[in-house]
Amino acid sequence: MKRLFCTLVCVGGITLSTVVPSTVQAQEKKTAEKTAYWGKSDLYLQKQASVMLNLVDQALDENPPVAGAPMTRKLALYNFDAIVHETKYDYTEPFNTFVKSRIDKVIADLQKPVKKGMRVYKLYNECVVARTKSVTIAFDIVRRKIKTNQIFSDEDIQKIVDQCDVMFLTHNHPDHVDPVVVDMFLKAGKPVMATANILKKKTDILHRRSDKVTKETLKLANGKELLVTIFPGHQSELINNIYAVTTPEKLTIAHAGDQYNKEDMEWIANAKNDVPKLNALFINCWTHRMSDVIAGFNPKVVITGHENEMGHTIDHREAFWLTFQKMEQITTPYVVMGWGEWYNVK
Ligand SMILES: [Zn+2]
Ligand SMILES: [Zn+2]
Repeated sequence: MKRLFCTLVCVGGITLSTVVPSTVQAQEKKTAEKTAYWGKSDLYLQKQASVMLNLVDQALDENPPVAGAPMTRKLALYNFDAIVHETKYDYTEPFNTFVKSRIDKVIADLQKPVKKGMRVYKLYNECVVARTKSVTIAFDIVRRKIKTNQIFSDEDIQKIVDQCDVMFLTHNHPDHVDPVVVDMFLKAGKPVMATANILKKKTDILHRRSDKVTKETLKLANGKELLVTIFPGHQSELINNIYAVTTPEKLTIAHAGDQYNKEDMEWIANAKNDVPKLNALFINCWTHRMSDVIAGFNPKVVITGHENEMGHTIDHREAFWLTFQKMEQITTPYVVMGWGEWYNVK
């Protein structure tokens, strides 16, 4: 009897479906898609990450970097924090798609000339490109290989290198130095300046390190000259050159690398006296005594870096929300940039 009832219901179901209009069937299919994650929590979370990162990508495009802390940018960057501080999303399809979208935008924008001022691009972590009308300066560019993963492809980084005239390397850590990228520059006849302990055997590198502040003029292949001021910084015990680079337009940007050292605060307090007025200071978001370092260099604007370094465990990946908490105490104008963004410095 039970079997007969089931047979009748099932047959009835098939009969019924053949008379349901196609629009209703389409509606049902859509509903089925929405609930297709039941019992598939991992798939659901990946889909959610994909939806969120696409939205972050779009929100950053529609709300480009400005000084201060606008709510829309904070929301976008904090959502990004939430995803990259959950390691299950590391190097997944949603993550890789986001990274590719951001680097493609930088590559596309670098095709255009900068007519006025200095455009500062933040690719990732402390990978920075600063471009004026006459020169394009790179700092700490890496593909960022972490075990078997790589944030940027060789091809994409080559496209960035093709647009640059020179690279400065602040200190000997793998999130700042990539031998493959160094070779890309050197092969193209573009100078690379680095601390004395970086890739020592590569004699083409302009190795620089002193206990004092030094200054030199660096001539580029295009005939343009840069004034380079080098400060003897440290990340704890490790030597860390802070480069202040002045372009032919008399615009100066300093890159602080991973500056973090108590003793250096003595000379940092007066660093502004050794360098032309800084148009921008790029600084690691976890530097020692942020407000004192900024006061010492006295830039027109501060740009933070090193948020969400993927090679770190999540406690030291450093979130954008932490950066905003620190920077909201600072009186100097500041700009917090996501990956693959740029800001026009005056
Ligand atoms: Zn670092
Ligand atoms: Zn470091």
